[in-house]
Order: sequence, then C-alpha cells, then structure tokens
Amino acid sequence: MFCLLGLLASFAGCSQNEVKPTDPMGKVYFNWFDTVSYVYSYAGDPAERFEELSAGISGILTEYHQLFDIYHEYSGINNLCTINRLAGGDPLPVDPKLIEFLRYAEDLYARTDGEMNILLGPVLKIWHDHRTAATEDPSAASLPAQEALDEANLHTDFSLLEIDEERGTVRLTDPNAAIDVGALGKGYATEKAALYLEAQGAASYVLNIGGNIRIVGTKPDGTGWRTAVKDPEDPENSYAAILDIADTACVTSGDYERFFAVAGKQYHHIIDPDTLWPAEQFASVTIITRDSGLADALSTALFCMSYEDGLALVSGMGGVEVLWIDHDGTLRYTEGMKALMTN
Ligand code: ADP
Ligand code: MG
Repeated sequence: MFCLLGLLASFAGCSQNEVKPTDPMGKVYFNWFDTVSYVYSYAGDPAERFEELSAGISGILTEYHQLFDIYHEYSGINNLCTINRLAGGDPLPVDPKLIEFLRYAEDLYARTDGEMNILLGPVLKIWHDHRTAATEDPSAASLPAQEALDEANLHTDFSLLEIDEERGTVRLTDPNAAIDVGALGKGYATEKAALYLEAQGAASYVLNIGGNIRIVGTKPDGTGWRTAVKDPEDPENSYAAILDIADTACVTSGDYERFFAVAGKQYHHIIDPDTLWPAEQFASVTIITRDSGLADALSTALFCMSYEDGLALVSGMGGVEVLWIDHDGTLRYTEGMKALMTN
C-alpha cells in the first residue's frame, strides 16, 4: 500500500497526487516505450479478474511497443525499425495494425497542419544524438548545425511514406527518410489498451503509460480522479493545476521532460517543424480528450503552435480541452478545461 501511493505520487507528466482509492490493485511495468507505466484497478474486482485484464493490457502494449520500436527489430515482425532500415527499398509487408496507425498519423499530420509529423525522424535524430552526447559528457555539449538540420528536413515530407492498404505494405521512398513516433505512439497504444478494457466491460481503471493517463470509467461511486499537472518551474515538487477527471485521457507535453544545456540555455525534445529548433511558445501544454492517441498528438502539436492557432484547431474539433502554461507561469485554458480545474 505504501509502495503504491509512492508510485502514484511519482507519476510523470499529468500526475495523480491525491487518490483516495477504494482498495486499488496496481501493477508497474518497465518494458514499454523506455518509460515506466502503471495499471490500476479501483473496481473492487476479484484478483483473478485484475490478473486477466492486466495480462490483456500487457499483451497489447507489448505488441505496440515492438511495432513502434525504431531502435530494435524483433524476429518475425517488420516494425518501424525495419521500415527505416529499408528506406528507399521495396514495399515491405507489415501488420495491419501498423498500417492503421500510419493512416492515423497521416490524418493527424494533415489536421495539425504538419506540426505533429512522424516523418520528422531525420531532424529528431540529430537532436537526439546531441542530447545523448551532452548527457554522457555535459562539458562537450553542442548544438546542431543549422545546415545539418536544413538538410535533414529535405527528407521529412509525409508524402515520402507510401502506404498500400490492399497489399498490406509500406515503404519510405527516400533512403534518408525515417519515422519517429515519440509524439504519438504511447498515446495510441494506451488507447488500444483502454478500448480493450471497455470491450471487456471493465470500469474504474486508470492507465498511466509513461505519463499518458487514460481513465476508463469513473470511480465506483461515480466520481472522478484528482489528477495534477506539474508546475513546469518545479516539476518534481509542485503542481500548476489539479484536474478532476473521469472517462478521458490526460496528456502533457513539457519543456522540462527531456533536455540538455549548452552555455546555460536548455534545449528540450519537442521540435517545431517550422524552425527545426525546440518550440519556445510554452513551458507545457496539457490536453484532455477521450482518445488518448489524439491527446498525445495534440499535446505535441499545440506545443509547437501559437495559442491562437491551437485554440482555433481544438475549437473546430470539439471534445478537446487544453491548458497552456507560459514561461512566466501564466495559465490559459479552454472553457471546458476550467470546469475540470479544482484550484
Ligand atoms: P513525451 O514523449 O515526452 O511524452 P511528446 O508526446 O510531446 O512528449 O513527444 C515528444 C517526442 O516526439 C520527442 O521525443 C520526439 O521523438 C518526437 N517529436 C518531437 N517533436 C515532434 C514533432 N513536431 N512532431 C512529431 N514528433 C515530434
Ligand atoms: Mg505527444
């Protein structure tokens, strides 16, 4: 019990800090998307039912983890790593689940006006390599050369990805193109796990997959969960907002999550496709919407847009609430978000 509450307090991104559960059962996983994940049931289910459902979730997330992995291949499947490795080659047969996901990503690329682009791989790799080198040896931290970023960006248009639904194949037509689904993959896979739970008739489940929170149903008494949004100024110790949410997803993109420093300035991991540099508009953007995949995609996309453009985008969608936190700590939010805020 003590351990479980400790884990609850340490949620990343949107984090739950105040949970008054009725006998929750929980499991922690370290094997998906290079991050820590939690599955909780507040349903008061028998242990066998929780075991069965968490095993189902585990199977789904493991499968998507393998399909979306860009660093490793797995025997018997062609995943994103395979697609990237064979870029410029022949069409590659892939699992229909991967085709469905790539179509979803294509749709979001169009809807976000290219701000969330899984084809940004070549640019993201440059930033990733600089961040990794800086982490290993901070004194040697350096910034990418603009020419290198510009060159990489010649290979990032979504049209370089050919999807053939009938044949069940995909192909990157440019040998220098590469897919990176860091902005969308976790949320998409989380949604698949939530849909599985719903199909099983489960409710009162909380999934926190690497900070992507997806709540299935309400607490047994019909109320929601208090979920905290970290204060970007002091993410480990304080909260900027506490939301009361049920039956929805909550995803935050923040500049404090992954970064490195050069000459005293921080460079984080969300790259604005318009500048090819870390987006500077906000300290964090939190999205509440039922589809966790959409929430994940929009958290990254709105982080790269102006407040006005982001607001216009979600206003046209419906069912999407946003909390923007500026660098000076100012909070801006949609009306529906205000209704969820308890502070
Ligand atoms: P996190 O993964 O930390 O929760 P995000 O959902 O915002 O945060 O995803 C950030 C990751 O997405 C980056 O690590 C990178 O792999 C990728 N990424 C960064 N910028 C973009 C972008 N503009 N479009 C698509 N993917 C991006
Ligand atoms: Mg995202």
